[in-house]
Amino acid sequence: MDKCRTLPYSGGRLDRAVGHRRDLGWLGDQLASPSRRMIPLWRDRCLLHDREVLSLRNRDVLSLRDADGEPVFLGLDGDAPVFAVDLSALTEADALAMTAADAAVDLRQLVGRLAGAEAAVLGYARGLCHWHRSQRYCGACGAPTRPSDGGHVRLCTACPRQHFPRIEPAVITLVEAPDDPARCLLARHAGAGPDSYALLAGFVEVGEDLEDAVRREVAEEAGAIVDEVTYQVSQAWPFPAGLMVGFRGRAASDSTHVDGVELIEVRWFTRAELRERRRARGHLGNLDSIDNLLIESWLDLED
Ligand SMILES: [Zn+2]
Repeated sequence: MDKCRTLPYSGGRLDRAVGHRRDLGWLGDQLASPSRRMIPLWRDRCLLHDREVLSLRNRDVLSLRDADGEPVFLGLDGDAPVFAVDLSALTEADALAMTAADAAVDLRQLVGRLAGAEAAVLGYARGLCHWHRSQRYCGACGAPTRPSDGGHVRLCTACPRQHFPRIEPAVITLVEAPDDPARCLLARHAGAGPDSYALLAGFVEVGEDLEDAVRREVAEEAGAIVDEVTYQVSQAWPFPAGLMVGFRGRAASDSTHVDGVELIEVRWFTRAELRERRRARGHLGNLDSIDNLLIESWLDLED
C-alpha cells in the first residue's frame, strides 16, 4: 500500500540502539550528554509550553528522579539521545511547575500540528511510560518490579520473571462487495452519531492469526462472510498499547446482519457515495488513524 499519506504515530526515525540498552555505563553517558533530549509526560499526556511540546534539554535529571520519574531510553536521534520521563506520581500542578510547562494535553489532540516522525516518538514515549505504570508488580508472584535495560524490561525483585512491554494487536478491515458496482462496508457503532460510519475492527484473540481475526470480527459484527483477506498496512497505536493491522477483505456475498450490540448498522457504500461524504464532511474516518488511509486508498482504485 502507498504509505505516502504518512500515518501518525508510525515511521519513527529513532535508532533504538537495542544492543546498548543493558550497558549502564553507556546509558549513563547518554543521560549526561549535552545533546540529550528528555520528553516529560504526565499521566499519558504531553506537557506543553506556549503550545509547543516540551523537551527538557538542560534540566537536572536528579530532580526528576526525586519526583519519582525514572527516565526511559527511547533511542538516538542522530547523535542526540532521547529519553522520556513519567511525572505521573506528581500532581498536575507540580508536574507543570517542575518542567515550566503550562498545559498537559493528550497526544491525539496535537497530531494535526506535529510532523509524523515527532508524533511517532511521542507515541512511543507515551506507550512505554504507560506500560511502566501498569507493570509495577510481578504478575507471577506479586512482588514489586524494577526497570532494567534502559526501561525496556522490568525485573521482579523476588522471582526470576522478566516482564516485557506488551503490545495488543487489533485488525481493521475494509470489506469489499463481491460484485459490481464496487462497494465497501462501513459500520455505525453503538454510541456513534446518526451519520457516523467507520470500518470494522477488533482485537486479535489468543490462538488466532490475523486473517482468522479479520474473518471472525466481520462475521460476528456484520454477519458477512469474508473469504479473501489481504494485508494492507499497519499503524502503531500506543493508546495505550495497540498495534493496528489493516486489511482488505472480499465478502462472499453482500448479505449482512448486525449484532445490535457493538454495531447498530452496516451499509455498503459506492466510491461515488464516499466521495460525496468526504466533500460534505471534509474527510472520511478519523484523520489520525488507519481507517482514513484504508478508505482513501480504496477510493484511489478505479471502478
Ligand atoms: Zn515475581
